[in-house]
Amino acid sequence: MSRFNELTIVRAAQALRTKECTVRELWDACATAAREKNPELNAYLEIFDVDEAAIEAAQKRIEAGDASLLCGIPLALKDNILLEGKVASAASKMLANYRATYDATVVRKLKEAGALFVGRTNMDEFAMGSSTEHSAFGPTKNPRDTSRVPGGSSGGSAAAVAAHLCIAALGSDTGGSIRQPAAYTGLVGLKPTYGAVSRSGLIAMGSSLDQIGPLTKSVEDGRILYEAIRGSDPLDSTTIADGLYSAHVSSAALRIGVPRELIGDGVDEDVKAVFEGVLKKLEEAGHSIVDVALPTSSHALAAYYVIMPAEVSTNLARLDGIRYGHASRGDTLLADYVQSRTEGFGEETLRRIILGTFVLSSGYIDAYYRKADAARELLRSEYNAAFKNCDVIAFPTTPSPAFTFGAKSDPLSMYLEDVYTVTANLTGMPAVSVPMGDVAREGNMLPVGIHFTAPHQGEELLFVAASEVEKTQTA
Ligand code: GLN
Repeated sequence: MSRFNELTIVRAAQALRTKECTVRELWDACATAAREKNPELNAYLEIFDVDEAAIEAAQKRIEAGDASLLCGIPLALKDNILLEGKVASAASKMLANYRATYDATVVRKLKEAGALFVGRTNMDEFAMGSSTEHSAFGPTKNPRDTSRVPGGSSGGSAAAVAAHLCIAALGSDTGGSIRQPAAYTGLVGLKPTYGAVSRSGLIAMGSSLDQIGPLTKSVEDGRILYEAIRGSDPLDSTTIADGLYSAHVSSAALRIGVPRELIGDGVDEDVKAVFEGVLKKLEEAGHSIVDVALPTSSHALAAYYVIMPAEVSTNLARLDGIRYGHASRGDTLLADYVQSRTEGFGEETLRRIILGTFVLSSGYIDAYYRKADAARELLRSEYNAAFKNCDVIAFPTTPSPAFTFGAKSDPLSMYLEDVYTVTANLTGMPAVSVPMGDVAREGNMLPVGIHFTAPHQGEELLFVAASEVEKTQTA
């Protein structure tokens, strides 16, 4: 059998129950792999010491017939999710020494389920980026081809799961940061409905866009982790109650909407071919493919890159060198602020703070921020209209497979990475990326993903659609 760290949540839970391995052996397999491979991959910013008490408690619970499949499962956490007593730096020099004083709600829930934590994973600073190259602590490498990026911003979590340095991981997604790295490393990545998962204890990037979600080796694992972390939370007033939106009953046959006019010249030919190939297999399996029109989608990226920096500039204002975070002293109070922020933040973070401050300034708020907000409303109604004729909407997660380091050093070319993923954050709808096949680049086979969007609270539809794709991959 495969090494224990290579198992899925489902298989590892089974192995623990049939006594193929103990919790300690499962932990050791993950922690050893993490220590061996991390010097090369830089997936983890910190690998935690073994927590004997937690391992022992999990083992006892399993022996007593504990129902949670996550009991004793070693997971990784993105470095912007708080775990009490541990550093949470959001991969920024600004928070390099910041220790969490409480658990994020998702962490509390996972602890209650008996899950274990291997370490905190690398990311683009404050989750801004699509390659993990914007980390203040060096980039993460893609385990499928170490000359390439793992995607971002949750690149460390994706690399840790793909290289089997943990069983599964959590990331955060503001404009694609779970789904794009999932696509680049051959994993399943879910961005839940806005408000489905509590943001309490997540270091905020864009508060109206952020969601925490799972990066997993299989669709079923994604469902298990999502079910464990979701639910309304008094600590996050934007969380939503079950069934707030109409329930989506999934029939056996799905109607899959494809906005063909959006899948144009910008998408690599071989990625398009893999995408069309998967659609054909889904049709053969009894699902139907329907055309949908989403004309405002061509403005989604522009709207995102106005709304997101506006929220970033607001959220990061608290990091001023006075209250907490990196502090540097000049001759005046103003110099204290300027020096602390200039030294603490990286280039991309500074760029977005400046951009966000500009679009919110009284002279420009109507021209930029309010227009972007109007586009957001239009996108939501266009998607809702499209969902009258289909259950889910499909396109490739990214136009290309993982790129090489430095290939997108021009910020605009990096932003174009997010063309397909940002809309789900703007509309608040749930979306998933699932592996659809491989394409060849310089002699290496690289994974690419198919992306499904569902109506609000339609996660179940996503799991059904994603499992159908998964079946085409193993067949
Ligand atoms: N790549 C996008 C950005 O740079 C998305 C980031 C994210 O989802 N956190 O903003």
